[in-house]
Amino acid sequence: MNTTVQFGLTKYHKGVVTLLQQLGVDWTILRDENSSCSVMILPPNEDDAVWNDVSLDKPTIDYTGRLARRQGVTSGQVHLTHLLDTPWNQHSWDVPIHPITVRTYPKAQSLHKSMWIDEPSQCCHIGLPFWSHSQQFQSWMAPMGMEQPTAPPTHRPTERIHQIPYALHRNTLLYAMRHACVWAGVPLLRKAMLPKGVSNLFIVRVDSDYGTKESVKTLQNTLRTFDLPSTWFLHTEAHKGWLEMFIDPSIEIAVHGVRHQSRGSSEALYRNIMQSKKEIEIETGIRPTGVAVPFGHYTPQISEVYKRCKDSFLYASDFGFDSDNVPHWPNEQEPLQVPIHPICPGSFRRTKASHEQIQQYFLHKLHSSMHRGEPFIFYHHPMQEDMGVLTTLFERVAELRHEHLLETWTLHQWADWWTIRSKATPYTTIPDPNANSVQWISEEGFPKQETDSESLLWSYNPLDNPLRQWKSILLDELGQRTQ
Ligand SMILES: [Zn+2]
Repeated sequence: MNTTVQFGLTKYHKGVVTLLQQLGVDWTILRDENSSCSVMILPPNEDDAVWNDVSLDKPTIDYTGRLARRQGVTSGQVHLTHLLDTPWNQHSWDVPIHPITVRTYPKAQSLHKSMWIDEPSQCCHIGLPFWSHSQQFQSWMAPMGMEQPTAPPTHRPTERIHQIPYALHRNTLLYAMRHACVWAGVPLLRKAMLPKGVSNLFIVRVDSDYGTKESVKTLQNTLRTFDLPSTWFLHTEAHKGWLEMFIDPSIEIAVHGVRHQSRGSSEALYRNIMQSKKEIEIETGIRPTGVAVPFGHYTPQISEVYKRCKDSFLYASDFGFDSDNVPHWPNEQEPLQVPIHPICPGSFRRTKASHEQIQQYFLHKLHSSMHRGEPFIFYHHPMQEDMGVLTTLFERVAELRHEHLLETWTLHQWADWWTIRSKATPYTTIPDPNANSVQWISEEGFPKQETDSESLLWSYNPLDNPLRQWKSILLDELGQRTQ
């Protein structure tokens, strides 16, 4: 690879650094104006005007809005209008984004003005503008998009999830990086998302909530029929005396708590998790490495509890923190968070969607994950009716697996790989014999626009085509939140 660092961040910023780590690009914090890099990034907290001059000679991604202001922000925003025209932040000035709240750029009340690419001066202004203070914990009731955009609201499932559109921010930054690397005349290098030879992943997560022996057995049999590994977050009180039913090489046992509750004193929450872990260890001889608080909740209190449990778990998985995204660490003191798709078949209970529509919903989510080249993590409960979703979805997964377009993993495998990837120094030409080695993927230029998304999906080969179709990716991310 180039001897020059690709991305130079002028100042440390937790939110931007998280995105850089997720993207797996080569980056550093610049020491001074003479430090070398191909593309400069001004994070939202950069207020030193010395970088304004440097930006005249270098492709720059600007989160401060300063460079755009200097040029007049209203010109040149047309490029992304079609990508970002969404009501996401049209109604407010402050948008919660990374660990912090983002103040929208004064002239960018609607998101379609929020990424501004100034070709002559080689500057991308990202006015999905960013953030100011501490981590956001609010969640909101998000109505999920159906495959048919015309589906009435009564057919759409909702779930209380995080307010921060982390995945959207990651994809927006990546889009800006592509522009910047074209200007810089260098290919964009990123760490491969998955080990060599693995195209994509399908993962089944089960929360055992109040599951009876019969319901657990039925679901386990279905998973066995399709030869699917799974991760079970156990509500241990409900399985008193028969926890050994979860001992199986294809099952990862994880912790959901003794009681199915996410409220109470911090001490009670901590004990609920740790006691459940202990019961599992005593009765099954297995040491769980994953934890998920009931209801997907993630609050300041739960964050504190996780800090106390950090050494006991490799990962946590709470959609109150994030969903439909690759993993990331909320901070250095908590376990890695592994986002899932937060809608399960049971989420449709109070909707008027037909069984066929529900099945189509999950097939659509699987296909859009395939399209993005990111894992699909399906979530279910043994006591909830599946409306035929399991058979239709698992049959499709089996086909894709047969075509080597995906592998089926547990959440532990995914969290473990992500931890390795995050720490790895990638190789370029000489493959590292170590199975856990990480490869640099080089992306040049922009992906071609495809009109027929179905044909793209079926012909899609991630190894030959690391480039993604950005328009549909962003629309998909946004669709979940705006339809
Ligand atoms: Zn639960």
